[in-house]
Amino acid sequence: MTHARLAGSLALALALLVGCAEQAEPPPARSPAEGQSRAGPQRIVEPRADPLYAGGDFELLPPPQGGSWRTRVREKSQSLREFQADERLRPTELRRTLYLQPLGRYPEAGILAGDLPSLPLIEEGLVTFVFAPPPEELRDFIALFYGLPTEVRDEIDLASLVPGPARVRRHHGQFNAHRMLRALGARLPEDAFSMTALMVRDLYAEEAQEYAFGHAIHEDRVAVASFVQLDPQFIGHARRDDFRLRLRERAYKLVAHEVGHTLGMEHCDEFRCVMNGVADVGELDEAPLHLGPQCLEKFLWLVDVAPAARYAELSEHYQRHGLESSARWARLRARRLR
Ligand SMILES: [Zn+2]
Ligand SMILES: [Zn+2]
Repeated sequence: MTHARLAGSLALALALLVGCAEQAEPPPARSPAEGQSRAGPQRIVEPRADPLYAGGDFELLPPPQGGSWRTRVREKSQSLREFQADERLRPTELRRTLYLQPLGRYPEAGILAGDLPSLPLIEEGLVTFVFAPPPEELRDFIALFYGLPTEVRDEIDLASLVPGPARVRRHHGQFNAHRMLRALGARLPEDAFSMTALMVRDLYAEEAQEYAFGHAIHEDRVAVASFVQLDPQFIGHARRDDFRLRLRERAYKLVAHEVGHTLGMEHCDEFRCVMNGVADVGELDEAPLHLGPQCLEKFLWLVDVAPAARYAELSEHYQRHGLESSARWARLRARRLR
């Protein structure tokens, strides 16, 4: 049986996922019943006059569906005040660069078959090919998205961080995010605000998870993002014709999300936002490639950028890389805020 067929049985629905700020999951302030939400249609959101946060440009999150992140994980929303009160970590003059650290063979395409060396396995059909955008492209995107200097570090071997995968799931060796982040933290450059590792090997953060897209620890200023679960080919599913665009958009969201955690933003649950917790690629596809109004307010409080210029430059970047709907949205915002 080929690797692809073996892997094809992996049910995404079981995946409990995605990089979250390292934090216990406190009970919500109010306890919505399973399947109901504070984001339900009965909820009234205060309209805001400031076009920067105007409701019309932002979409409310629908009530959580079965299997969605919000039905699986109870998280308390982080208010602006809570975000501002957390004085532990803010960009300073001397410490403001966002580093991206490619691990292993990224961005080369051919990888993985458990933790086995890949080359001899290509002939046996055991190697999965995963597409991910090059780190330099992600650097340009993150620099525009977060308005902070962003740099790509020289690639380092995954084995220099951790000895190998900590467990095997569905025939894929999976790396333990906590161990990786500990090792990564020891390599933070002096001028780093944070460092986000990019990898094309499978990842998990908690035992109960099938896999994780990524994980971040705000206090330690480190994060990791794994692109493998974004590509249906990794689990033996067919790619669509537009897979490169889809995977590019997913990778952008994932990296923006994890870097956002390193900046102190936690998951938000009122508006559709790149900081929404997501349980699978379906939810990731529903999340937009932008900060919702609440996270935008936190970000603009933290980093001094001109919002209209930021949207205009992001729009050009998205357009250049074929992300048309994101380009359209950012263009609209830039016009409205001029
Ligand atoms: Zn997260
Ligand atoms: Zn948000």
